[in-house]
Amino acid sequence: MPRLLLFTAKLGYQTRSFDEAARKLGVELLFVTDRCHQLEDPWGDRAIPVHFESPDAAAHDVMQFVREEDLAADAILALGDRPAVTAAYVARALGIFYNHPAAVEACRNKLRMREIFREAGLPVPWFRAIPLHPMPEPDLLGISYPCVLKPLSLSASQGVIRADSREEFRIAAERIRRLLQSPEMQASREPHLTEALVEGYIPGGEVAVEGLLSEGRLRVLAIFDKPDPLEGPYFEETIYVTPSRLPQQVQSEIARSAEAAARALGLSHGPVHAEFRINGDGIWALEVAPRPIGGLCARALRFAPAGAQSESIGLEELLLRHALHLPYSDWPREKSASGVMMIPVPKSGVLERVEGEEEARATAGITGVEITARLHDYIAAWPEGSSYLGFLFAKANLPQEAEGALREAHRKLRFHLAPRLPVEHPGTRQMPAST
Ligand code: ADP
Ligand code: CA
Repeated sequence: MPRLLLFTAKLGYQTRSFDEAARKLGVELLFVTDRCHQLEDPWGDRAIPVHFESPDAAAHDVMQFVREEDLAADAILALGDRPAVTAAYVARALGIFYNHPAAVEACRNKLRMREIFREAGLPVPWFRAIPLHPMPEPDLLGISYPCVLKPLSLSASQGVIRADSREEFRIAAERIRRLLQSPEMQASREPHLTEALVEGYIPGGEVAVEGLLSEGRLRVLAIFDKPDPLEGPYFEETIYVTPSRLPQQVQSEIARSAEAAARALGLSHGPVHAEFRINGDGIWALEVAPRPIGGLCARALRFAPAGAQSESIGLEELLLRHALHLPYSDWPREKSASGVMMIPVPKSGVLERVEGEEEARATAGITGVEITARLHDYIAAWPEGSSYLGFLFAKANLPQEAEGALREAHRKLRFHLAPRLPVEHPGTRQMPAST
């Protein structure tokens, strides 16, 4: 039985999908995770506990486990940016095709990534790192507007803020400082919590590229259009639709840019998720991550042999097949248009009630409605937030129809968010006010 090490910081929908695909293929999955306390049977005996924040030590722990259990591993996959670094070190130790650790490390640092793109001659906006405390004077730094401020190593647009003036710059920098200083963030032990990246605002439309690298060559699995304008001041995602409606020639240029960006970073093997802005001056890589599209969104992608009606396979099965050199990892995406909406958080608050789920589910073209935020939990809006209320999925003949279905279903949903009272004394649970 071939064995694959799956590095993941999250246990949930995506790991379950990998588990199902592995069973189907007769592949043994061994999880490497820092969430062992969340493991349910039958995974408990198939997990290696690690701390991803120190990849060297984590890789050492994995190698020790592998030696003690006398395990052979045939392939490696990583979900999420943090686990990918440890995965890269372990792949080196085991002699398995994967990305070089330095390439994966570069993807964890937005400043480093900009430097690499610039050195490679790829289009980049002006950029510089700034300390957050004490905050520098933007006028003296020669900052021009509009610009974008962002933490160096967070994801999901958390803490990403556009500033159109000196005043907005100062407010944004202070807001990022507070976010990075919060107890939750400090406990995460993310690196680079004392500085931010500032860069020129790149106007234009935006796409996401899901790709698969094989020894440096990129195969584009899908280009997702992002039809809602992402103009700030905050940048939470909403709708992704594929196939892209951009002209074929622009799509080919995007594919070339994605391969060039991956090559510049030194990424060579396995899944990549990349984002680009497109305008009259060219195709601008926002970032490239050595991992597949996150969690539930992967459900928007299914693959099937061209022309055949046989059952399609999911992204997880495709990635397992690719990693283990099994047949059919070259299947193209299915024919129909597909879309997903990450349901935005209209304002921070305690989620009290969700209405309209059934009506949303009954909307023509809608194939799935998943409310992932938990009732009675506090959910933060962007820029402090980083998780969505849930996800809507649609299938249609044409991308505009899939987009229409997502919008219609979203209109039918109502989320009741109650403001959290500002003062909470330890031990006393306060009832949130009702909206
Ligand atoms: P994260 O890793 O948190 O997703 P990104 O750098 O990808 O951070 O930024 C998140 C979003 O913010 C992007 O998808 C884009 O919409 C917007 N954004 C980031 N940088 C810029 C920029 N320089 N110009 C315009 N928009 C930007
Ligand atoms: Ca991003």
